[in-house]
Amino acid sequence: MSLWWDQVIRPSFTPGDINARWDVLIVGGGFSGLWSAHHLVNSEPHLKIAILEKGRVGTGASGRNGGWASALYPVNDEVLGRNFSTAHISTLHHELRISIDEIAHFVKEEKITCGFHKGGSLVVARNGGQLKRLGTELAANEIFLNQSQTEKRILMAQALGSSFNPDCAVINPAALVVGLAKSLENRGVSIFENHEGRFTSENEVIVNGKKLNAQFILRATEAYHEDSRAQIPIYSLIVATEPLSDSQISEIGLADREAFSDASHLVTYAQRTEDNRLVIGGRGAPYSWGSRRQDSLETRSKNHEGLRKMARRWFPVVGKSKFTHAWGGAVGVARDWSPYVRVNSKYGEMGGYVGDGVTLSYLAAHSIADLLLGKKSVRAQLPYAQWKSKKWESEPWRWLGVNSTIQLTKLADREEFLTHRPSVIMQALDPILGR
Ligand SMILES: Cc1cc2nc3c(=O)[nH]c(=O)nc-3n(C[C@H](O)[C@H](O)[C@H](O)COP(=O)(O)OP(=O)(O)OC[C@H]3O[C@@H](n4cnc5c(N)ncnc54)[C@H](O)[C@@H]3O)c2cc1C
Repeated sequence: MSLWWDQVIRPSFTPGDINARWDVLIVGGGFSGLWSAHHLVNSEPHLKIAILEKGRVGTGASGRNGGWASALYPVNDEVLGRNFSTAHISTLHHELRISIDEIAHFVKEEKITCGFHKGGSLVVARNGGQLKRLGTELAANEIFLNQSQTEKRILMAQALGSSFNPDCAVINPAALVVGLAKSLENRGVSIFENHEGRFTSENEVIVNGKKLNAQFILRATEAYHEDSRAQIPIYSLIVATEPLSDSQISEIGLADREAFSDASHLVTYAQRTEDNRLVIGGRGAPYSWGSRRQDSLETRSKNHEGLRKMARRWFPVVGKSKFTHAWGGAVGVARDWSPYVRVNSKYGEMGGYVGDGVTLSYLAAHSIADLLLGKKSVRAQLPYAQWKSKKWESEPWRWLGVNSTIQLTKLADREEFLTHRPSVIMQALDPILGR
């Protein structure tokens, strides 16, 4: 189980009769589904909305992620620039940034105790190759910190410098999911846990053999999407330490609870929690043939052990402190790494956030609500709106391609460590990945 769920009491819901007539039926009780209901009832409080969740709310990625509420977007500006104007891309970044503040406002208004703290994020370079890349890849809202400036924020071993992005908060995501779901129930939304919806077509969902009566159906199942070529699940794993002592924390830093990672190509992400634990996650688990989702990949001891070793390399002071939790989950990735929000008159779907879905799902849900309600807002026209990615390759090419990419990314990190120069492997790989 994740640390987050260990710190949250799961509420129960009293949703009423599932066979009622629904204006909007949402399949998936993660952030996407819940925020969609939130934005819809905010605009049209009379709407009758049902959310179906096959497990408990937040069972999926939403309740078990790394807790970065960042303004990151999985596709870089250069790639976005092939299809969208600079102004359009700036609007996307602006909307992501203000979404963090809107989440903060919601958390405060609803008095949700989810450890929300906006202290920004740090990406730390630990070799010359990483340092050169950081210096040249700064986003508009990021600043470069040299070694001594970095050490004022974080005391990571071998840190040579870092980039600092002010637009990131850390949260206990399960606590936010639960608070959001309860707030929705208070506003009249019906949440059906332990109800799996089976799509027989875009316009028809069946539960326990019975067709539900809904005007509009929204698929908010992200990495659980049944179409294995539309979007693939990539596993990300996390470990958490026990609460560290004050003297250990004084040798780690992060006084403003900045989210942090190193600058490796293989994604890492971490935070210092409210109760002074380190929560550290990373990708690198193998992709499963046929885009299968496998529980065994969530508890892969080899990857978890790698993360524990990494934590001790980053902060030797962690030493013999216990790691109390280890878990994982899948992120949804489309072939071009682009998120999507698609709506027609009766059906909508959203997802493909890669590992940036905490804030992005809030914004995507706002876009879904605007599109569904026919509002011509900027959110209804952001780059992911009505975006269609090409399909992933069939197997075995998909398996070979994704797993070789994971291995080459690891090799690229090794190359930078040895050469102290930005990786040539990665420069060759990025255009192939198309992100
Ligand atoms: C380990 C990990 C770490 C991550 N770290 C971060 C991070 O730090 N920051 C960040 O921004 N993003 C992070 N992400 C990504 C982020 O968590 C997700 O993008 C986001 O939570 C997706 O929300 P969602 O509601 O779309 O999907 P989910 O939370 O996966 O929700 C989908 C829900 O649909 C349900 N479902 C599926 N099929 C059906 C069905 N047929 N009927 C009913 N219910 C169904 C599932 O049970 C699930 O609860 C991470 C993800 C993982 C796995």
